Amino acid sequence: MDLTLSDEQREIREWVRTFVRKEIMPLEPDVLARERRNERGLLQQELEALQDKAKEAGFFGVDTPEEYGGMALGAVMNALIEVELGRSFLPFKFGGDADNILYVANDEQKEAYLLPTINGARKSCFAITEPGAGSDARAIRTSARREGEEWVINGEKTFITGGNEADFTMAFAVTDPRKDSEGRPIYDGSGVTCFLVDRDMGWKSEYIDTMGEWGPASLVFDDVRVPHSSILGEEGKGFELAMRWIGRGRYLLPARALGACERLVEMGMEHARNRVTFGEPIADRQAIQWMVADSAVEIEALRWLVLSAAWQVDAGLDSRQAQSMAKLYGGMKANEIVDRVLQMHGGMGYTRELPVERWYRELRLLRIYEGTDEIQRHTIARNLLKGHASIRGFLG
Ligand SMILES: Cc1cc2nc3c(=O)[nH]c(=O)nc-3n(C[C@H](O)[C@H](O)[C@H](O)COP(=O)(O)OP(=O)(O)OC[C@H]3O[C@@H](n4cnc5c(N)ncnc54)[C@H](O)[C@@H]3O)c2cc1C
Repeated sequence: MDLTLSDEQREIREWVRTFVRKEIMPLEPDVLARERRNERGLLQQELEALQDKAKEAGFFGVDTPEEYGGMALGAVMNALIEVELGRSFLPFKFGGDADNILYVANDEQKEAYLLPTINGARKSCFAITEPGAGSDARAIRTSARREGEEWVINGEKTFITGGNEADFTMAFAVTDPRKDSEGRPIYDGSGVTCFLVDRDMGWKSEYIDTMGEWGPASLVFDDVRVPHSSILGEEGKGFELAMRWIGRGRYLLPARALGACERLVEMGMEHARNRVTFGEPIADRQAIQWMVADSAVEIEALRWLVLSAAWQVDAGLDSRQAQSMAKLYGGMKANEIVDRVLQMHGGMGYTRELPVERWYRELRLLRIYEGTDEIQRHTIARNLLKGHASIRGFLG
């Protein structure tokens, strides 16, 4: 079994590593200072300048098909890149990508939504969660009622990433309400349709303050009228699209956290070598060494969970079990590791001088969005108990 990277994979990773060190990390002090003043950390013009610089070097649309001008590097390379980007807390991403479900758009929709999203002219957001429907996404109540050639959408979405900045949303609404034999509504995900809705069609957004540095938004649809041509994919088949969006790359979130953990443990070790207590660097104490050792083992285990999931995606295997495992383990371990690193820094770890407390707050989200820990556990156990996955893993 050969676990080495190809020369091309190494070269691409090296390029990203250098880009992060030379172009992204130098912005960290300013971004941190702005966030401390409750201002936006990474400015739009800074993000675009970084993306332009990367594009000049050919870095555009890392996972976008070549026919759309992308690099189509695949899942393993994507994961390796995400680890490198995760080493900085800046919310940087390369330009040139679009939500996977926009590729099911018809030609007209591709012109209006997919292509401008790829080239950065438009911003999307994905809106399924509602105040009454998160983990249980089938329970959404936002409705769309047909009136001639239009649909009238009513309802509220919540926790929508980028919802305050997006100029269009992929909104999921019930178009065909089901009822049981006694006339009571059934919310089971059937009869849900995805609509492409421009902000100027009338939905409103409001920023939600969270413990993270960038907040999601609530979206309100109050008799928002959209043409029938706004339906993405097929009427009544929206729930499948939503699951496809969520499942597009569950290995990428823990990959990013993995990069953060590597950097955090490096910071912790640097501090431990220099911090002297009772006449000795704390790095010489077993208590600290065990924190380093446990973190290193967990980082290595996470690396292989992430790469195994990504490899299964590239190999066209059913990777859902592996992706859930990587997401669950990444969320749990990243939170334990950042807590240890904060502890190693003592009082300094608790201050806002260092990015440790920032990561401490940000990494907490990994255990909640795109499937909570509990939902991942539910999926993993169900797959095993029903025989869809083997306890021996994909190698069998
Ligand atoms: C910062 C942020 C960004 C987000 N971005 C988006 C976005 O862009 N688009 C979008 O649509 N949504 C987004 N979400 C929503 C996110 O996906 C949901 O918050 C998440 O799925 C959990 O749903 P919930 O908050 O309703 O919690 P609930 O589903 O109410 O869960 C509450 C608790 O109960 C547990 N629980 C629920 N059901 C079970 C069960 N069957 N068995 C055991 N335990 C259970 C959960 O694990 C959790 O611990 C975002 C959320 C946050 C916080």
